[in-house]
Amino acid sequence: WWSGVQMGPPDVILGVTEAYKRDTNPKKINLGVGAYRDDDGKPYVLPCVRKAEDKLRAKNLDHEYAPIGGMAEFCKKSIELALGEGSEVVQNSLNATIQGVSGTGSLRVGAAFLSNFFPYNKVVYLPAPSWGNHTPIFKHAGMDVKSYRYYDPKTCGLDFAGALDDISKIPEKSIILLHACAHNPTGVDPTKEQWAELSNLIKKKNLFPFFDMAYQGFATGSVDNDAFAVRLFVKEGHRIALTQSYAKNMGLYGERAGAFTVTGESKEEADRVMSQIKILIRALYSNPPIHGARIVTEILSDSQLRADWLKEVKGMADRIISVRTTLRDNLKKEGSTKSWEHITNQIGMFCFTGMNAQEVEKLTKEFSIYLTKDGRISMAGVTSKNVDYLAHAIHQATK
Ligand code: PMP
Repeated sequence: WWSGVQMGPPDVILGVTEAYKRDTNPKKINLGVGAYRDDDGKPYVLPCVRKAEDKLRAKNLDHEYAPIGGMAEFCKKSIELALGEGSEVVQNSLNATIQGVSGTGSLRVGAAFLSNFFPYNKVVYLPAPSWGNHTPIFKHAGMDVKSYRYYDPKTCGLDFAGALDDISKIPEKSIILLHACAHNPTGVDPTKEQWAELSNLIKKKNLFPFFDMAYQGFATGSVDNDAFAVRLFVKEGHRIALTQSYAKNMGLYGERAGAFTVTGESKEEADRVMSQIKILIRALYSNPPIHGARIVTEILSDSQLRADWLKEVKGMADRIISVRTTLRDNLKKEGSTKSWEHITNQIGMFCFTGMNAQEVEKLTKEFSIYLTKDGRISMAGVTSKNVDYLAHAIHQATK
């Protein structure tokens, strides 16, 4: 039956990790993986997560199904985390929020909802480049995908003029996807002033903004700061779609805890939207996993655990920010005359180094440093112990 099935290509990022595992060089570094590592290069379980798990264990909970839309308290805490305590949208019940299967599953539900119910152009405009999974997720749900200029390889920064130009040419009543903070893969975010301009233009063009927020708190260390763009758009009167993920900011990667929200004009509209989202979820996976969502709810509901979490997420963000500075300084010390300012200007887990495919190949072949061909490095894999070697290798590969 399956003789006609051709072998598909391996996942690009998982392929990097496979090659890394095969390498026997003790100095090898894996900068492909998009998961936080501590300064010893080890996976990190947040202490607040351990405490929440202890509390859950003591409650002796059962393993019944969650409702189709997930746990109500989780949904409420999640949308409040995104929009801020006391948000008018939440107070007036204008949001339809469901617990999704982390960020990816939430995006997939969002794509299914738009594909079935968005009344105008079923085209999503993504920044170029965007997270590699955005295109397949939307296409899988039957949406068309196009792009708008975003990254400028000349400056390793934002092509703001290009973005404005392209967005102004998008047909009215289309969907535009925005990374709420810590753009993946480039680490390049608009400034607050640029977000305000984008909001105005997107409103003028009558586009529907879909925010993907996979790194709230992880970018600058402040959950409020990182939600700036989403809150600004809401304040400016946009109706939005939003996905959230607790993979990075709570280190709950494998627990698959996340959320999807659509905001409407009235509670009655939000209720209608919610009813249709539930019908889609029922056929996709019936209901979401419970353990991760319980951990999140515990942390967000308990003032002590929440305070611990805010400190711990800031600790992760600060380690990454500090290692960015060390990497940039060490490149200078190595004698590199290139500008590496973008290493510290960029934000979040990833750095788009500007290295080309040959330079990346040299880094891998001669120095056992593994990363994707586009020159993206995961800053989470850089530590105080390997940053000297990394700076040396990058200089050798790029001089
Ligand atoms: N969106 C973006 C931009 C991401 O970088 C990621 C994680 N790599 C996700 C969504 C989804 O991640 P997850 O499904 O693990 O929550």
